[in-house]
Amino acid sequence: MINNLNKKEINVKKRLFKMTLFILIIIMSLFIFSSVSINLLRKINKQFHVDNIHSLMNEYKLNIDNQLNSDIEKLISLSYFLNNNDSINIDNFVNSLKDYSNNGDFVRISYYLLSNDYMSVISSNNDHYNKNIADLRIELKNLIQDCYTNKVPTISEVYFDYEFNDYFISYSVPIFNSSNEIVGVLSASRFLDVFFNILDSPTIFNKKLNIDWINSNGEFISWSKESLLDTKLSTIYDSNHVSDNEQLNIKNNIENNAYFQSSLSYKNKDYDLFFIPLKFNNWYLIYLDKLAVFDKPVSKLLDSINLFTALIVITILILLASILLYIKNNNKELMLLAYSDKLTGAYNFEKFSSSAVELLSLNDKQYSFVTLNIRHFQFINTILGTENADLLLIYISEVLNKSIHSDEVYCRYNADQFYLLLHATNKDELLNRVSKIVNDIIEYINNKINMNYPLSLYSGIAIHDETFINDSNALEVFNTLIYRAEFTQKHIEEEYESSIVLYDENMHKAKLLYKSIEMDMLSALENEEFKLFLQPKMDFKTNIITSAEALVRWIKDDGSVIYPDEFIPVFEKNGFCTKLDIYMLEKAFQKIRSWIDNGKKPIPISVNQTKLLFYQADYIDTLSTFVNKYNIPKKMIVLEFTESLATDNIDDLNKTLSKLKELGFVISLDDFGSGYSSLNILSSLNIDEVKFDRVFLQKNSDNDKYKSTIMNLVNLSKDLSLSTVMEGVESKEDELFLKEIGCNYGQGYFYSKPISSDEFDEKFIYKN
Ligand code: C2E
Ligand code: CA
Ligand code: CA
Repeated sequence: MINNLNKKEINVKKRLFKMTLFILIIIMSLFIFSSVSINLLRKINKQFHVDNIHSLMNEYKLNIDNQLNSDIEKLISLSYFLNNNDSINIDNFVNSLKDYSNNGDFVRISYYLLSNDYMSVISSNNDHYNKNIADLRIELKNLIQDCYTNKVPTISEVYFDYEFNDYFISYSVPIFNSSNEIVGVLSASRFLDVFFNILDSPTIFNKKLNIDWINSNGEFISWSKESLLDTKLSTIYDSNHVSDNEQLNIKNNIENNAYFQSSLSYKNKDYDLFFIPLKFNNWYLIYLDKLAVFDKPVSKLLDSINLFTALIVITILILLASILLYIKNNNKELMLLAYSDKLTGAYNFEKFSSSAVELLSLNDKQYSFVTLNIRHFQFINTILGTENADLLLIYISEVLNKSIHSDEVYCRYNADQFYLLLHATNKDELLNRVSKIVNDIIEYINNKINMNYPLSLYSGIAIHDETFINDSNALEVFNTLIYRAEFTQKHIEEEYESSIVLYDENMHKAKLLYKSIEMDMLSALENEEFKLFLQPKMDFKTNIITSAEALVRWIKDDGSVIYPDEFIPVFEKNGFCTKLDIYMLEKAFQKIRSWIDNGKKPIPISVNQTKLLFYQADYIDTLSTFVNKYNIPKKMIVLEFTESLATDNIDDLNKTLSKLKELGFVISLDDFGSGYSSLNILSSLNIDEVKFDRVFLQKNSDNDKYKSTIMNLVNLSKDLSLSTVMEGVESKEDELFLKEIGCNYGQGYFYSKPISSDEFDEKFIYKN
């Protein structure tokens, strides 16, 4: 039970944790799944986008390549005309060139014959003139040279022509004679507008890309109209926008004439840069991708899905957090309810015990358990009324709350019972603390409640000390502490003596024995566990055993013996002694009867009788029944009473004693001299014999004083015609002294210890 609440709390926490983890995992999986899917979609989309760009760029590339190709084709077909005419009529040729030029494709067509060092030039405005090769611009000169050397159609780089004040490109094709030897070069030039138109027109899918055109050195030939960059770069190797690595990458790829992709950063953003090679001169078309152009709708959709998922996740997380918070608070309240005493707000026992066990399991373990209770709380409840009595309990709790330290706990167990676990094991310290707490409570309550009744508190304290078994665990220690403190408190509740008492192990043991004696006495009587023992008495006149005293022994089933000193006081308290004494008396009757029946001379037996018997109305009747039943000679049974009997009304007592004597009993006054004996009793009581207590024979410093006292007492008794018996004769010396002073009988270990009646028979009755 002790740790149940803690376990429950831990269980709830565990379950909450599991649930939270579970939900979190689900949410995270959802989130991861959606992110992965979205990323995949993005990738697919991107790939699609890239493919799309490639195909579009390819269209531009093909268009430009086609234009270049067709320009060259035209020149080649023109060159055939020259090929097939070994002897060229220059005028005819010039005329046909003129026709060609009139078509407007070329700005200028030139013919260069190997034998001549001049070119025949026909310009688009139909001028015909000859130009000296040496006067040609370097680009043309190189073009012609390359074409002549390589014997293949060649295209020049873009160049600026001052004559037309515009950019040009020129083509050259070789001219062969009938024996296939190169004889000259045909060359034509054109403005770039036809290319610009291509780059500026939409594709067949009616999409338009902003395409730039660069040469093999990375220099821009043309810029798209809506270039992303504000400033037109002169070269793609602009270090402001393209990293060193990318520059190298671009250079390598251009050298290899490859399709490739690079990147360019502009205003802190990275953009993809697509490169597609043209067929000639390692020219490239490039496209700076703003990305958003094509995938905008999809991207937007993905973004909103992403945002939506994120929103859902956040909402669920917030929801979860608030649910958890709610559960936690709720749980706290529930726990508080489950943990506290409703009236005082103090811990209840469950919480107290779990906390106490925890404290007791700490290293130093220096704790003590204190109970606190109000005397006559039931009565206080009636005089104060329930409401005020409740207030009183609340005030006590308030004082306790202030009095305990941070490493201590207390609770209200029930009604007016409080428990405290204090961090101290020193007896004085504990007594001081608890008595201070008790005084504080009384003072506090006197100030708060007007009560015409003295408030009295009592407290039992159990210390966690060396009497505990070393390896007992905290829970065992706790239970033992409660048990001991409760026991102590209970003890003083009955005693009405002191208010704050420490647990005492011996007191506890006595109490336990007391309880077990009370529990077993009835069955012991039924089972005849009370046995008759006899101790002989010596007659000093004849020096033989002439009588005996009956002494009870409780012999249990297991053979263990309990002596009367342990149980007679208990029985005198609870009244059972009367039953036992009657029982023992009957045993004595039976013994004497058996001696007579066995033809032996009976000897008198003294039987101890509790004074309680005198308050029993049927005492005389019971004894007369025995007398009739066993029919033994008179004066065979001696009844021993203690002198405490004489505190009651002497006249009534004497009447009873007379009746007993009439029935044939002898009356003896037992233990004379042990208490506050008065000599008066000897003369006023109707007795036959006085038994002096063995204190008179005990060896002590006042030996002589005792001796003279006993001598006087024996003399006094003789004067009163009482026979005298001395108990506790333990030596020859004792016997000599008793004989000397004229004592009649002696009883003691010197003759025999009390022995079982069987043994007594054997030793003293049936010995001959
Ligand atoms: P008591 O009546 O004074 O009995 C004498 C006690 O002194 C016996 O103790 C006996 O064993 C002891 N005794 C005898 N000789 C010597 C000796 O030489 N030295 C010492 N030191 N002690 C000696 P026991 O048998 O333990 O009885 C104790 C007391 O119990 C008795 O004291 C008597 O008061 C009471 N008692 C015993 N049996 C009964 C009974 O049946 N009924 C009642 N009411 N009381 C009984
Ligand atoms: Ca006695
Ligand atoms: Ca005695």
